[in-house]
Amino acid sequence: MQLTNRSKNVVNKKMSFAERIYLVAIAKGMWITLKHFFRKNNTYNYPDTQRTYAPVYRGWHVLKRDANGAERCTACGLCAVACPAEAITMTAAERERGEEKLYREEKYAAVYEINMLRCIFCGLCEEACPKEAIFLTDRIVPSDYVRQGFIFGKDMLVEGVEPEKRVDVSVRQKHIQEKKQAAAAAQ
Ligand code: SF4
Ligand code: SF4
Repeated sequence: MQLTNRSKNVVNKKMSFAERIYLVAIAKGMWITLKHFFRKNNTYNYPDTQRTYAPVYRGWHVLKRDANGAERCTACGLCAVACPAEAITMTAAERERGEEKLYREEKYAAVYEINMLRCIFCGLCEEACPKEAIFLTDRIVPSDYVRQGFIFGKDMLVEGVEPEKRVDVSVRQKHIQEKKQAAAAAQ
């Protein structure tokens, strides 16, 4: 049975002298290689040269703070439930008196981890989040030699308090809002 019409029958015919010395085949191969010397290079000399990414590229997540610097995440777990790769785990904790500046709501994520080896960067976590706390960014997840290095905890995810350490997610925010509006209009 043929699965495609591209299969060829094997022919065990005896090779000619020219075929047996492989010179023609080698010359053909060299010609193909030579042609590529003069073609435009399609690869990038990463990390010295980087390609331009789509404005809505989905990379390394950020856990956002509000305008006052408090963590927005309330450890509701909706992002973890929405995650098809089961990449998100968290431990919730109650906010103590005097921690109002650190955490926006009474419950917060004492531990929040994303396994970047499991993540498929689908963006469903940010769509599921009711607090606009998690976003994917255009930052690339760095490579590592050990698996543990790909478990990103809060130290790798929560943005800094200082204005220069804030991560701009306005493009993604707008993109998600448009998607939600389109989905609502289609219902
Ligand atoms: S981007 Fe997708 S796979 Fe990655 S953590 Fe979010 S929901 Fe899970
Ligand atoms: S990131 Fe959003 S969805 Fe996930 S636990 Fe925090 S508040 Fe809930």
